Amino acid sequence: MKKAIIIGAGIGGIALAIRLQTAGISTIILEQRDKPGGRAYVYKQDGFIFDAGPTVITDPNSIKLLFDLSKNRMENYVNLLPIKPFYRLYWGKEKFLNYEDNIKDLEKQIAKFNLNDIKGYRLFLNYSKKVFKEGYLSFASKSFLTINDMLFILPKLIKIKAWKSVYSIVSQFIKNDYLKQAFSFNSLFIGGNPFSTSSIYTLIHALEYEWGIWFPKGGVGALIKALIKLFQNLGGNLILNSQVISIYVNNNKVNKVHLKNGQIFDADIIVSNADIINTYRNLLGQYAFGKKKYMNLIKKKMSNSLFVIYFGLSEQYTHLAHHTIFFPSNYKKSIENIFGKNFSRDNLSIYLHSPSVTDLSLAPTGCSTFYALIPVPNLSNSSINWSEESIKLKNIVFMYLEQYCIPNLRKKLITQRIFTPNDFKDVLGSYLGSAFSFAPLLTQSAWFRPHNRDKNLTNLYFVGAGTHPGAGIPGVIASANITAEIIFNDINL
Ligand SMILES: Cc1cc2nc3c(=O)[nH]c(=O)nc-3n(C[C@H](O)[C@H](O)[C@H](O)COP(=O)(O)OP(=O)(O)OC[C@H]3O[C@@H](n4cnc5c(N)ncnc54)[C@H](O)[C@@H]3O)c2cc1C
Repeated sequence: MKKAIIIGAGIGGIALAIRLQTAGISTIILEQRDKPGGRAYVYKQDGFIFDAGPTVITDPNSIKLLFDLSKNRMENYVNLLPIKPFYRLYWGKEKFLNYEDNIKDLEKQIAKFNLNDIKGYRLFLNYSKKVFKEGYLSFASKSFLTINDMLFILPKLIKIKAWKSVYSIVSQFIKNDYLKQAFSFNSLFIGGNPFSTSSIYTLIHALEYEWGIWFPKGGVGALIKALIKLFQNLGGNLILNSQVISIYVNNNKVNKVHLKNGQIFDADIIVSNADIINTYRNLLGQYAFGKKKYMNLIKKKMSNSLFVIYFGLSEQYTHLAHHTIFFPSNYKKSIENIFGKNFSRDNLSIYLHSPSVTDLSLAPTGCSTFYALIPVPNLSNSSINWSEESIKLKNIVFMYLEQYCIPNLRKKLITQRIFTPNDFKDVLGSYLGSAFSFAPLLTQSAWFRPHNRDKNLTNLYFVGAGTHPGAGIPGVIASANITAEIIFNDINL
């Protein structure tokens, strides 16, 4: 029986582990933290349950498929609840758009802003559906190990004008400034600047309307638990508190990993779900090729980071939507704030996650669980001292939320915790503290993204946000499917 080691229990690592174990490969996941999930970690604090990362679950079928592979039923492990509206978007206190869960109602919302844009919206939706068909249903399930793979899709990329940015494509169809923001912001969910990210990522809009937006009962942590339970029921082994510090190479093959606690595991197949740059720098840095690859990869552009405040309040708020986004008065400046050199506390975009609206079990009786997320620069912007900035930023965000949607927030505060770009670097081992690995630019996508298998070491593989197709839960599950196919092919399974 072949043996596989997966370094890291992020969603991509777990999804791949399920695929390998289902196929009869004896699989061990080694995770450095005390719980699985990676960015989808769970903090439990003073009776509140905080999902640390992803909250918007799209493409539920990609998750269900992981259960179907072994004829298990997802419903026996976890329930996904539909979210309605998908999002509520605010500009100031009064102006808002309910990003409804169906096109008919969404069009009514569009009409509030500009009746004439309904026609343009329909054209945008058609475009987005076309890109979804090519970009998600076709590119995102295909491996890009050779330049020929890229040449094959080139005509399709030209057809969808993939060199244009998300914002410029949206602006081609939609004229109202608020609506342009509403239909371009979601590239930020995968670390993409709407003004420079390839229009391929407009597919997110069609993907949301094709399969809906969901939230697991019990929180995203319940989904991670379900996936791990499935993996273990299949005979897989998850070992926590196990930081891998090096990968060994022998005769152009990887054959062992060395843990910080001194343990050594050997394997026929080694997959890194850890940050790719740090895999080459730290785990393979003892070899010249590891150092060289690291030096090449750091030339790429990393995605932004995030500043997240998790907080629990002693009241329930039924007027809120599950997902709310507060747009600043100057959208362009707020994006420059995240991706440019000069960070300022003005013009912040804030995403408020209010899971208690959907599931009361995430907070003590009568209370509510929240997180507020602000996209911020990654650590390549060294002018920000995050220990000082955190306090200032937190106060601004709390004051903003008090003014716009949660009066007396600070009086109701029971518990809070903060996650900064430094934590992305130190806790998750993320290069430059980026939240979504390499930025989703056209020049860093598909064949241009680090491949799912190393070029020279034929049994070293990658899975997760840093490899093709990229970040986001659907992205990392797709990367697991691709990496599994490459492995099966390599070992003639
Ligand atoms: C705050 C936030 C909100 C998000 N919201 C959404 C959303 O709503 N919807 C969506 O689809 N996506 C969202 N995303 C993106 C999505 O969560 C990620 O792209 C995805 O979860 C990344 O998964 P991954 O497989 O790349 O692994 P990661 O989550 O990056 O996990 C990697 C794991 O490897 C472990 N590791 C690293 N080094 C070592 C080592 N040396 N030894 C052992 N273990 C190691 C780490 O501890 C970690 O557990 C969000 C991300 C963040 C940060």
